[in-house]
Amino acid sequence: MSRYKCQICHEYTWAARHVCPPTWECYEADDPEERTTIYARDAEQAAEKYAEQTDPENEYNIMEASTRDNEESEIVVLADDKEERFLVSAEIVYQYSARLKDD
Ligand SMILES: [Zn+2]
Repeated sequence: MSRYKCQICHEYTWAARHVCPPTWECYEADDPEERTTIYARDAEQAAEKYAEQTDPENEYNIMEASTRDNEESEIVVLADDKEERFLVSAEIVYQYSARLKDD
């Protein structure tokens, strides 16, 4: 059995019968015209995924703002008929890697 990436929601899964999580419409509070549909298990995860996915150039706008000014980005997630608002911040995580030294 191998892990595969769902072509619809782009989630990695082991499940033989994968079911995509529900979709959420998300946008930044100061830019309500730029809406994106996100697959996520709940509104909170949708806000986090939105923050990741709207940074495709790896400019890390949200992370830069949060580390520099302790600022959070306000992300709006449309859930049923209401809006849920999340304050999203980011942090830097160090990742170590090792490689065998050639003699
Ligand atoms: Zn899926």
